[in-house]
Amino acid sequence: DNPNLSPERQPEDQDAALRPKSLREFIGQEAARDNLRVFIESARSREEAMDHTLFFGPPGLGKTTLAQIVAKELGVGFRATSGPVIAKAGDLAALLTNLESGDVLFIDEIHRLNPVVEEVLYPAMEDRALDLIIGEGPSARSVRIDLPPFTLIGATTRQGLLTTPLRDRFGIPVRLIFYTEDELTLVVRRGAKLLGVEIDDGGAREIARRSRGTPRVAGRLLRRVRDFAHVAGSGRVTAQIADDSLTRLEVDGLGLDAMDRRYLTMIADIYKGGPVGVETLSAGLAEPRDTVEDVIEPFLIQLGLVARTARGRCLNDGGWRHLGLTPPSNGPD
Ligand code: ADP
Repeated sequence: DNPNLSPERQPEDQDAALRPKSLREFIGQEAARDNLRVFIESARSREEAMDHTLFFGPPGLGKTTLAQIVAKELGVGFRATSGPVIAKAGDLAALLTNLESGDVLFIDEIHRLNPVVEEVLYPAMEDRALDLIIGEGPSARSVRIDLPPFTLIGATTRQGLLTTPLRDRFGIPVRLIFYTEDELTLVVRRGAKLLGVEIDDGGAREIARRSRGTPRVAGRLLRRVRDFAHVAGSGRVTAQIADDSLTRLEVDGLGLDAMDRRYLTMIADIYKGGPVGVETLSAGLAEPRDTVEDVIEPFLIQLGLVARTARGRCLNDGGWRHLGLTPPSNGPD
């Protein structure tokens, strides 16, 4: 499959190089930025830690970047980890006891915390306390350790993946949405400037249009197209160069990759347009259900090619047409 379009982090992404460092520099997500600005100002003026914040939305939209920006604008330290990495309650306890007053602790993929670890987080978030069991058997006793004030920033692909008690402990939920073509054009231009790539308006727009609404994908495609531009000629990225190279990379006009097209084709060919259950699609594509729901589907739904219904996934007219097929008539067969 085509790794160029996956919104999930890849080792060669060098995300850090393109990260905006302030809210002002951060493109798009206006509603989220406006809210964060208020909460940051208020925490600063009260000289208190900001409320615990949950970022949710598809991968590659800027959750980690925003968490870093929040810490920076609050003028506090930033520690990052992720749900699956925290194996034991003691690992989380170590992280928490090492925080300094006001720090931001960022937990990516927070829905993947193991339940025992999650239990430790509840009193930490609510009472700034750590309840530890010392010893074993009849001599075991519980001790409570006070923690410094801190802000937990959690990131997840869908708010609904969190357990209710965890979700309820976040004061500030922030939804991130796909970027518009105009916003992504700015992201591409900014990236080109930072990478020293010469690009014209048409080139930037062509990459933006085919970036799946996702800045991480935009950054990656910009690097690929730059390489093609160097090999092909002057190194300058034009609409023509961008189109040629993206087509060669099997990124189609809407920015869909081979996996997206396999998903659409499966619903069309095998299930006659649906409805078909997500488990069935996941098995047919040999992709985990989470990947189907969090990575593949959101953008196809955003484009209106697919609908999630109570009975399963259905191909919309636009989905049929994108495959070059005629939608079946709606009459009884
Ligand atoms: P997430 O944590 O949601 O998966 P990241 O914060 O790691 O996403 O962002 C992925 C990449 O996209 C990073 O390289 C980052 O620099 C870039 N990026 C994200 N949001 C923006 C933005 N608003 N403007 C410019 N670049 C962005």
